[in-house]
Amino acid sequence: MRNLFVAVAAAALGASGTALAQSGTAPRVSPPAVYQVAPPMGRYTDEVLFGEVWRREGLSPRDRSLLVVSTLIANGRAAQLRGHVGRALDNGVKPAEIAEIVTHLAFYAGWPVAVSSVQEIKAVFDQRKIETPDFGAEPLPVDAAAEARRKADLQATAGAAAPPLAELTDRVLFADLWRRPDLTPRDRSLVTIAALIANGASEQLPFYVNRAMDAGLTAAQLSEAVTHLAFYAGWPRAMSAVPVVQKILADRTAPPAATGLRLQRHAAGATTTGPAANFTGTVRVASRFQAESPARVGGGLVSFEPGARTAWHTHPLGQTLVVTAGCGRVQAEGGPVEVIRPGDVVWIPPGVRHWHGAAPDTAMSHLAVAEASEGVSVRWMEQVSDQQYDGAAGNAGRCGG
Ligand code: MN
Repeated sequence: MRNLFVAVAAAALGASGTALAQSGTAPRVSPPAVYQVAPPMGRYTDEVLFGEVWRREGLSPRDRSLLVVSTLIANGRAAQLRGHVGRALDNGVKPAEIAEIVTHLAFYAGWPVAVSSVQEIKAVFDQRKIETPDFGAEPLPVDAAAEARRKADLQATAGAAAPPLAELTDRVLFADLWRRPDLTPRDRSLVTIAALIANGASEQLPFYVNRAMDAGLTAAQLSEAVTHLAFYAGWPRAMSAVPVVQKILADRTAPPAATGLRLQRHAAGATTTGPAANFTGTVRVASRFQAESPARVGGGLVSFEPGARTAWHTHPLGQTLVVTAGCGRVQAEGGPVEVIRPGDVVWIPPGVRHWHGAAPDTAMSHLAVAEASEGVSVRWMEQVSDQQYDGAAGNAGRCGG
């Protein structure tokens, strides 16, 4: 967090000492009226804002123009827009890109400010004799995996409360607007970030900042963008964005120690005995594991003494058994008893009543893996009687030599 605060503060105060030390050398951008009414503001404008911030190397003049034009449109600052649209054109922003910015911001800042801005942009285009630009026809490709995640997140939020909004978001914003080829995804993200910060919509920032960085915006450029926006959207807006941006940067640059890798060391004390209510005989469970949400897989290494077995039970999302030692038995209700040996893999479908355990005279161990449904991975029922266990064995149910 510190670096970003320092950058913002340094830009404001001329902490490097260069801008204010060069007092008087910066060309005047500020109108004479500013010097007449508020001379200190005139000096900050010419020496800090245009003499220093606009010249910082961390972000190109073109990128800075994208940010400023977007902020002015998003905040409805028509009086300043003409000058900055002209500056943007001088800094290499193409007329078609200006057209895309205002179109994009109709969605992200609302139609009224976009329509008002069009009048100002038209005045600049007329003055420079710029014709209506040509637009590309071929939509940009889609990152299918990222788009699937975005749709799932949207369904989880707006999908239930505002289905038409979710539908338009999918069909118009992301399948059409974001794929228009006349503004790169990186620039479009920058435009969006500027509008969000300008309007104080920090809660929307993480998605779009990540999108910008996926499209090539660097952390240093992001830091410069927030700093630059402090001057055009105001310090409070920029400062409110800082913790959000800082968390995103931390998440994206997590060191190996914080990757979430967790090593659960084997310990004898971690072995538990299966409760008598759910098992017959002696059963031990070691190396229990449970993945963290959104993953839901869990299980353990289960060892049955000779003759021991589970009670009848079901698994809401099924279970996989991998036999690791000995010889045992498994039966689904209504089906034959199967003898299982090391290396065998058993799949129990969801909801199927079954039991598993050792052979009468041989111990058996298996790895048991099941996914939890709403936190439940097993439903226990009555015990497997000796008659069921013995009777089930039959002639086929022998471990043999
Ligand atoms: Mn089971």
